[in-house]
Amino acid sequence: MRRKLAAGNWKMNGMKASLAEIEALAKAHPDPACDLLICPPATLIAAAAEICQGTGVKIGGQTCHDRLAGAHTGDISATMLKDAGASAVILGHSERREDHEESSEDVRMLAKTAQSAGLMTVVCVGESLFQRQSTNTLDIIGAQLSLSIPDSSTGENLIVAYEPIWAIGSGLTPTKDEIGEVHDFMRARLEHRFGYGVGKSVRLLYGGSVKGSNAEEIFSISNVDGALVGGASLTAEDFGPIVSAL
Ligand code: 13P
Repeated sequence: MRRKLAAGNWKMNGMKASLAEIEALAKAHPDPACDLLICPPATLIAAAAEICQGTGVKIGGQTCHDRLAGAHTGDISATMLKDAGASAVILGHSERREDHEESSEDVRMLAKTAQSAGLMTVVCVGESLFQRQSTNTLDIIGAQLSLSIPDSSTGENLIVAYEPIWAIGSGLTPTKDEIGEVHDFMRARLEHRFGYGVGKSVRLLYGGSVKGSNAEEIFSISNVDGALVGGASLTAEDFGPIVSAL
């Protein structure tokens, strides 16, 4: 049985004062029925991890380098994330793919390195609006999945997040059938590649305009094991109802 997961991606948001939101989240859910993960900006990881010690909230990074150390000014390695107290890292978010021209092959390298460092990897895939309207969405997702996910993946070190780019921060969400179609397809592809046992154990998150008011409906869809939440994860007040819906 896959344990559900509510994950928050703070993106480039959050100052020291925002740590109070993480503390409030941990206090409000002392014994959560699902896993909780917050991925704050790198500047807050160590402090957030300290606050969350002994609570049900885990802390993650938002990207990492494909090397573990060296002359790479401005970058952060998977081992540094781990050292700061992170247990997971988001990789291949569409904003990274766009802003930093990360290809699926790049994402696979990052994920391989992060998994070797003992981090849970949350690998993101998703189609643009143009792709949804002009091509077969499942072909796009299938290609991203096969190229972005390393062979070293298991149910213990891989989570896949389906985030349609046009649904991120837009208030738009796909229909239940559209989300279900992609998630069932991703499950089938993972089972085919990694075998039934491993494929069945990888958690699949939906992301894109998830909020308290639509969370329950989204979580009722088959093969949706939780959510990767942006804007609505920034405060305990907004994130709480999403956590409770799982
Ligand atoms: P929003 O929840 O703000 O739409 O962002 C989703 C997202 O990109 C999470 O990674």
